[in-house]
Amino acid sequence: MEIKNRIIGIDFGATFIKFGLLNLKGEILKKSSFPTKAYISRKSLISGIIAESESMVAGLRKRLLGVGIGVPGQVDYNKGVIYNLTNVKGWRGVHLRDIIKSRLKVPVFIDNDANAACIGEAKWGAGKGFNDIICITLGSGLGSAVMIEGRIFRGRGYSAAEMGHICIERYGLKCNCGGRGCLETFAGNSYIVKEAVKRLKKGEKSQLLKLANGKFSEITPKLIDEASKEGDRFSINVWKRMGENVGIGLSSIVNTFNPEVIVIGGGVAKSGKILFGSIRTTIKNRAIPVFTRDLKIRRARFIEDAGTVGAAALVLE
Ligand SMILES: [Zn+2]
Repeated sequence: MEIKNRIIGIDFGATFIKFGLLNLKGEILKKSSFPTKAYISRKSLISGIIAESESMVAGLRKRLLGVGIGVPGQVDYNKGVIYNLTNVKGWRGVHLRDIIKSRLKVPVFIDNDANAACIGEAKWGAGKGFNDIICITLGSGLGSAVMIEGRIFRGRGYSAAEMGHICIERYGLKCNCGGRGCLETFAGNSYIVKEAVKRLKKGEKSQLLKLANGKFSEITPKLIDEASKEGDRFSINVWKRMGENVGIGLSSIVNTFNPEVIVIGGGVAKSGKILFGSIRTTIKNRAIPVFTRDLKIRRARFIEDAGTVGAAALVLE
């Protein structure tokens, strides 16, 4: 009998569906992807996912241990049913786990992508060896997950740990969750660009606009990062301020959960030395001192592959 030592992790995103073939050590052996819109109907998209999975394990079919799927939205982890997907229409009430299981004939697991990413970090990444973990992902917004005593806390409606929507400003901007002054409106890629443009328009001095060829529309988080590395004070301060915002939000989280480690991932975590420093200092200054004494704040190990690795880790949870 062949040893089952291959896992497929599927990152179901609004723009791309990414696939990773992993071994049990969390190493990616093969990757592929296709645009989510490559298939018109839901049914054909599911068939596409199954076909791609089959081709990932071509020749190794008997060694496939299972398939994990991370999706951007609410999922009943136990029943394998999707309740709602952010930015992907028409998936309400879909029993995706069972459909895929019946076709591939291996165990299939499905969870929210932020939860999956946290499980991936706990299993193979920056959260390895810890039981009480907070994971946040700084992308276009702020994704998050909470692991308590080694298990993801999912909440009654499988929507727990939306830390991007804790309020940090009583009279702040209206957020698309319906709240006001949410952390997400003070963090992430869209925040940082908006903040930089707002300050430049007020007349603050910076090299940034020159780097953006004089166009506000060409300012990106990457460009702000480059400018800060060249010592541009303005850009350094933009990162610092975002770090403070994130740190203020996380201080409340630290006081609530008393975690061992906070793992920070997402595109901006790749660079972001200034950002990390600012997050650390803010938490140190604001959270209850005994909670921060041994607290670790770490960069995620998986950035681009967080989705597929996390999904694969679901199979071993
Ligand atoms: Zn909100």
